[in-house]
Amino acid sequence: MAYDSNNIFAKILRGEIPCKKVYEDQHVLAFSDIRPQAPVHVLVIPRGAYVSFDDFHEKASDAEIAALGRAVGKIAKMTGVAETGYRVISNAGANGHQEVPHLHLHILGGRPMGRMVARD
Ligand code: AMP
Repeated sequence: MAYDSNNIFAKILRGEIPCKKVYEDQHVLAFSDIRPQAPVHVLVIPRGAYVSFDDFHEKASDAEIAALGRAVGKIAKMTGVAETGYRVISNAGANGHQEVPHLHLHILGGRPMGRMVARD
């Protein structure tokens, strides 16, 4: 899938749409999900234009990859969920039910997160 620079997270990165910022550094921005599914629901995104987890790990620099992973750990500590437990999810493509085509990691916690995948 080609990167669409008009996706909503690209607009947040350009400052065209506001967000509730949780963390940022040279390579990463993290903000609260607009429709939280848990008391803590943070989206962590690379600043670079990557569609998905696989696209990012194929094309990003080692520095960008390290920064994204380290940011998750920092945010888990900042929000308190490193202590109580949390889940990291990255949806990709149609079967993954990805809505926004810019790589994002969901950090979810603050309550028991239940089954890893819902049974249909
Ligand atoms: P996904 O299904 O993994 O692509 O999830 C996309 C997520 O982005 C959903 O949880 C949405 O609630 C969230 N979202 C969409 N628009 C915004 C926005 N403007 N600010 C924060 N979160 C958003």
